[in-house]
Amino acid sequence: MILIKDPIALEGLIKAKKAQNLAIGFVPTMGALHLGHISLIEEAKANTDFVVCSIFVNPTQFNSPTDLANYPRTLEADLLLLAAVGCDVLFHPEVSQIYQSKELKLSAADYGNFIHVLEGAKRPGHFDGVITILTKLFKITLPNQVYFGQKDYQQCMVVQTLIARDFPSIKFNRCAIVREADGLALSSRNVRLTREERAIAPQIFKTLQYLSQQWQKLAWEAALNEARSSLSKLPFELEYLEVCDPNTLETLQDYSANAVVLVAVNLGSTRLIDNHIL
Ligand code: AMP
Repeated sequence: MILIKDPIALEGLIKAKKAQNLAIGFVPTMGALHLGHISLIEEAKANTDFVVCSIFVNPTQFNSPTDLANYPRTLEADLLLLAAVGCDVLFHPEVSQIYQSKELKLSAADYGNFIHVLEGAKRPGHFDGVITILTKLFKITLPNQVYFGQKDYQQCMVVQTLIARDFPSIKFNRCAIVREADGLALSSRNVRLTREERAIAPQIFKTLQYLSQQWQKLAWEAALNEARSSLSKLPFELEYLEVCDPNTLETLQDYSANAVVLVAVNLGSTRLIDNHIL
């Protein structure tokens, strides 16, 4: 595997690969890699000829400076994992190689109403940062196919909208959520959980499963309220638990054959999100 920091060098290499008719697969990440990330690389390897993973802790998508400063960074271990899975290139630029000073963020404001709810409401400016960095990364890596995790369900919708508008030749792939044996969705942030927090974190997915079982039943509202109150008990601090239309993220009050339940909690000082298609 080649480690490249310079965007111009990467663009040159990708153009050479494309001239040989190779299909480029791209997996953007913020590092502190785990088996969820690796599953995306494996999917890319199975379906494209040359796989690029990026590790870039994107400052413009963080709305809390403390969260940005505390985001785990584990480059040595990441390199080993990527080499073992057969990734072709790791792109790991410096912030100054991506952003000029005083650069404006792109705006996701007119992407549709779904942009303003859930993560969009709780993390103002987050999706502006996401589309800003992905626009830059797609222009450098010129991918044929990109791979994103359903773990970030709303982000997948944002990326699909970005691609439909500005990069119609890219094929978008949404990959399944990889979980620990006890159901906790793998996340780079899990390493920040204390032993006690880690022990109760699986409660998040258990709640989603419980709601999944209750979804078609008459006492649905009571089940949702019960789930909300159980996830609001300390040390959980519930940000949202909503059942939504999977295409618009409008809140659903009653049974619908298509639905997704999405949750965000703070557990101690760690923010965790998860979702489950009902
Ligand atoms: P991140 O490094 O958190 O920005 O994530 C990079 C990519 O990995 C995103 O597309 C995430 O949705 C995806 N991802 C993160 N956690 C998981 C997981 N547990 N299962 C599958 N994909 C994941």
